[in-house]
Amino acid sequence: MTAEIISVGTELLLGNILNTNAQYLSRELAALGITVQRESTIGDNHGRLAEFVNEAKARCDLLVFTGGLGPTADDLTKETVAACFGDTLELDEAEWAGIQEYFARSGRETTPNNRKQAMVPVHGKKIVNHHGTAPGAWFEQDGRCAVLMPGVPSEMKAMWTESIRPMLLERQNCTLHSITLRVLGGESNLEYKVRDLLENANPTAAIYCKTGECEIRITARAATDEDGEKMCRAYAKKFYDLLGDAVYDEDVAGLEETLVRTLKEKGLTIATAESCTGGLIAERITSVSGSSEVFGYGFVTYWEQAKAKLVGVEPEVIARYNVVSAPVAAQMALGAAEAAGADIAVSVTGLAGPTGGDELRPVGTVYVGAARGGTAYVKKLFVSRPDRAWVRGRAAQTALELALR
Ligand code: ATP
Ligand code: MG
Repeated sequence: MTAEIISVGTELLLGNILNTNAQYLSRELAALGITVQRESTIGDNHGRLAEFVNEAKARCDLLVFTGGLGPTADDLTKETVAACFGDTLELDEAEWAGIQEYFARSGRETTPNNRKQAMVPVHGKKIVNHHGTAPGAWFEQDGRCAVLMPGVPSEMKAMWTESIRPMLLERQNCTLHSITLRVLGGESNLEYKVRDLLENANPTAAIYCKTGECEIRITARAATDEDGEKMCRAYAKKFYDLLGDAVYDEDVAGLEETLVRTLKEKGLTIATAESCTGGLIAERITSVSGSSEVFGYGFVTYWEQAKAKLVGVEPEVIARYNVVSAPVAAQMALGAAEAAGADIAVSVTGLAGPTGGDELRPVGTVYVGAARGGTAYVKKLFVSRPDRAWVRGRAAQTALELALR
C-alpha cells in the first residue's frame, strides 16, 4: 500500500508551528509496512487543496490528512476531500448533541459554526474523537482511501492509535508487534555496526537517536500477535549479537526508567548533586512513577558556596583544582550520598556554555561523579557541540549511566 501525508494549515506554511504530525505519521505508517511516497503541506485554501487531492488520489492508495477539521471558516479539509471523493456530508444528530454537551460542561455555548464539526460523511465513515470536539472522517472511492484527523497533535495521536491504525491493520489483514531496544552511544557508530539489519522488509528495523543513546525499533507484521512477537525476538537477537552490552534495556522510556527499576530490585537509594545540569538528573529520575522508593534528595549546588554548604566540598579543593574538576565531582558525589543517607549518589560539575571556559577547560568540559560505599568514581566528558542544552543533556545522561554501573 502506498500513502501520502497531507498537513493542512496556513500556520504551518508561515513557519508558526513545527509539523510534528507528519513526523509522527511517517514513522507510524512505515511501521505498518505502508510506503509513504510524499509529504505535503497545503494552506487553508479550498481551491489549492482540491487540486492537490485530485492529483494525489490518482497516484497513491491512501491519503492521510491532519488539520482543518475545526469549526472556523478556514477549516475546510472535510468538505473539500468529501467532494474530491464523490461524497457529501450530513448532520450527525448524536455528534451534534455530544458537542453541545461538551461545551455545556465547560460553561460555554455553541455557536452555529460548531454544527460544521458535527457534519459526517454520507457514504464514508465518521471517526469518533474521544479527546476533542472534531470527529475525523474516512472516505473511499475506487479502492482509494482518505483519512482525516484533527490537527491538534494529542487528538490526532489518540485517534490514530484508537481507530485509524486498527482500521488499516484490518485492511491489511495482519497484526503488528514491536520491540524497542535501547542502546547507549551515538548514531554513526551504531548505524555502521548494524547497517545490514536495517534493510529488512519484515520485520523492519529503524534507528532513532536521542541524547547520548539510540532506540532501535523492530516491528513485525504477522497473522497473529504471537507470530509477530516470535519474529521480533529472533530479529532482536541479531542486534544483541552485534551490540552486546550496549543494549541496556527494552521497551522503556529511557535510562531513568531502567535505573529506578534496577535500584528498586537491589533495594538501593540514590541522591544527586548537580551544578551545570541544574536538576536535570533529578527531573529525569522523578519522571518515573514510583521513584520515591529510591530517590529522596537532589541538591542543586550551582554556586561554590552551595557546593561547600550542602554537600561538603572543601573550598581548598576548589581553589587548588578548579570548580570544574575531578576532585570536586568526587566530593560532590560523596557529600551528596552522606547528606542524603543514600546508598549511591551522582554528581555533575561542568561548563555548559556557550560563553566561558578557557584553553584548559573549554566549554563542554564536564566531570560526572558517582559514589558508592565511600568510594567515588569520576568520568571526564568533553562535549564538542557548543550547545548548552546538548551539553547538559549529555551530562545528565552520563550520570544516569554511571549510576547504573
Ligand atoms: P481545531 O478543532 O482545534 O481547529 P483542527 O483539526 O482544525 O483543530 P488546526 O486548526 O489545523 O486543526 O490545528 C489546530 C492546532 O493544532 C494548531 O494551531 C497547531 O497548534 C496544531 N497543529 C496543527 N497541525 C499540526 C501539525 N501538522 N503538526 C503539529 N501541530 C499541528
Ligand atoms: Mg482549526
